[in-house]
Amino acid sequence: MKPARVDYMRPRSLEAALQLLTTHGPDAAILGGGQSLIPMLNLRVAAPSILVDINAIAGMNEIVNGVSGLQIGAVARHNDVLRSPLVADCAPLLAQALKHVAHEAIRNRGTLGGSLALADPAAELPACMVCLEANIVIVSSRGERVVEASDFFQGIYETALEPDELILRVEIPASNREWRCHFDERARRHGDFAMAGLALMMKLEGGAIVGCKIVYAGLEAFPRRLVNIEDALLGIKLGDDERIDAVIECLGASLDILDGGEYPVQYRLRLAGHLLRNGIGAVGRSVMT
Ligand SMILES: Cc1cc2nc3c(=O)[nH]c(=O)nc-3n(C[C@H](O)[C@H](O)[C@H](O)COP(=O)(O)OP(=O)(O)OC[C@H]3O[C@@H](n4cnc5c(N)ncnc54)[C@H](O)[C@@H]3O)c2cc1C
Repeated sequence: MKPARVDYMRPRSLEAALQLLTTHGPDAAILGGGQSLIPMLNLRVAAPSILVDINAIAGMNEIVNGVSGLQIGAVARHNDVLRSPLVADCAPLLAQALKHVAHEAIRNRGTLGGSLALADPAAELPACMVCLEANIVIVSSRGERVVEASDFFQGIYETALEPDELILRVEIPASNREWRCHFDERARRHGDFAMAGLALMMKLEGGAIVGCKIVYAGLEAFPRRLVNIEDALLGIKLGDDERIDAVIECLGASLDILDGGEYPVQYRLRLAGHLLRNGIGAVGRSVMT
């Protein structure tokens, strides 16, 4: 299929892009990597009257270490984030997760901002941003605002973005460097969206869990921390499988798994438990090496 007629603008400044969004409001669509938007246009799931391509705006793809932590521009490509030494040093969770995102060709074009704005419930990066307690910097002609990742994702393909706003960059607090991280997922084939994915961060002291952040992808409508499961794990020693399994048993009561897809809820719940058990084990082993 071919898309409906659509105008195309490629502004060279942020101000010009914001002006276009202000003028056209919900009739405009921001073009990041186009890996999701272009298929949506072709299938006529989306029919904006104008595309605002933000790829020519200088600096929007930068990855830098700022005062408060790592800053990643919205137009940074998945593969650039995956291969960045700064990301490997400050937020290795992202590099671990990005290995599971689609395929090489899609990672060469797809952008961080596009993935976050799309807010696919099965996407890896939104879950990571909630786990990393990242701040999402949003801009419009009205000015800049910062939204915590935990408030940004609001439903299936729903975010806090207004029609005249775009994601400028993401800021990841430096404090994440003190945590051990692990990302894993189960998908039918490598590169498919996950049936279940887990972003896990833990702090350990004397072999016991003293800090924990757990966010799943692909299970619920949007990523969120499972605070009651995190709290229940605190104080448990690694290797105390009985206590860890008892907490994992409570996942069913804590998760509101989306029904109606290809994979049954009970199966995905089992995957969730399996991923958490494995993840805790992997973090434990990483401390010993
Ligand atoms: C075959 C295939 C497999 C895939 N597998 C996975 C996978 O396993 N995991 C995964 O996470 N993703 C997967 N994707 C999606 C891919 O990661 C895309 O990169 C991502 O969904 C969107 O990024 P994009 O830059 O291409 O955004 P676009 O397609 O350009 O835009 C997507 C949406 O975001 C909006 N947007 C874009 N940039 C901004 C911005 N800066 N501010 C505000 N709004 C913006 C657009 O208007 C549009 O609504 C897959 C895609 C394909 C085609």
